[in-house]
Amino acid sequence: MSEEEDQQQRNRVATGPAPLADEEHEAQEALAVAAEAGIHRLAIPTPFMVGRVNAYLIEDSPLTLVDSGPNSAKALDELEQALAARGHSVEDLELLVITHQHIDHFGLASILARRSGAEVAALDRVAPFLAGYGHEADLDDVFAERLMLRHGIPPEVVTVLRAVSAGFRAWGSAVQVTRSLADGDELVLRDRKLRVLHRPGHSPSDTVFLDETRSMLLAADHLIAHISSNPLLARPLGTHGERRDASDPRPQALITYIESLEKTRAMELSLVLPGHGRPITDHVSLIDERFRLHRRRAEKMRRLIASQPRTAHEIAQELWGNVAVTQAYLTLSEVLGHVDLLLRDGAIVEEDRDGVVSFRAT
Ligand SMILES: [Zn+2]
Repeated sequence: MSEEEDQQQRNRVATGPAPLADEEHEAQEALAVAAEAGIHRLAIPTPFMVGRVNAYLIEDSPLTLVDSGPNSAKALDELEQALAARGHSVEDLELLVITHQHIDHFGLASILARRSGAEVAALDRVAPFLAGYGHEADLDDVFAERLMLRHGIPPEVVTVLRAVSAGFRAWGSAVQVTRSLADGDELVLRDRKLRVLHRPGHSPSDTVFLDETRSMLLAADHLIAHISSNPLLARPLGTHGERRDASDPRPQALITYIESLEKTRAMELSLVLPGHGRPITDHVSLIDERFRLHRRRAEKMRRLIASQPRTAHEIAQELWGNVAVTQAYLTLSEVLGHVDLLLRDGAIVEEDRDGVVSFRAT
């Protein structure tokens, strides 16, 4: 044992169990409460940095699976094992629910639907995206490419990122939605009703499902305990990249996301079941913590812009160094989200110089 570990060990003895063990214990308790209500978390592997994705099996009629994991043999194998552990097979599934347009959540859905004959339910406005996945992903890449160039990311970096994105394409797969859900709809199962609520921000199609009787929320990536869900800049649903001009107003993902979080904060919830990681039992304090984080980040960026006008990419490099290159789109989304807050408040203005945007304090 190293000196440091030794010290940690002594601290634990002095102060009781480590916080991590507490957290783990609480998570297990919360999952047991969900299981009591017939909702079972199945953590499915993904190749992405985020790690495993949570699918939720609802043992009800119809037998329902919320999200599926990515399109990979490993994900399918582990999903089959997790279903078998509960006495089910893929063929038993009767309803697949898709929470949003990210491939770690819906990639396997087409295979599961074909094998089981299950209905596929998703928000009405994401259905065309899911059905046309390959082409839609191409349009997303075009959108991202233009946005990156417009905000000062060097063309060679944009080219590399495009190849990376294309490499991940096959983890998704087009799927036909057979049951289209409108915001506010009720999804009725034998033992529960789930209210369908559109909560855009992390992606344009984020949909959460509320069991009003049990005050439980299936939240997918709208709210995650251990990471701040990044409001990724995404092409608005139902638009086509080629028809958008680079100078068109860009979607304001963080502002949209904060509005969505405010709606969720106002809800009385006993349990939130997220798309990654452990369940959330105190959504109000977690959301307040996120609001504080975003205010702090916006202020940091305001100070950088006040010292000299900068492009979004320059701000990202200042804040995150080389990560602003390797994760250029993610960090660009992060900067533009906060810059949007500053623009809205009139603290900065946007200037277009030969097609590249920079920000200047007012
Ligand atoms: Zn997601």
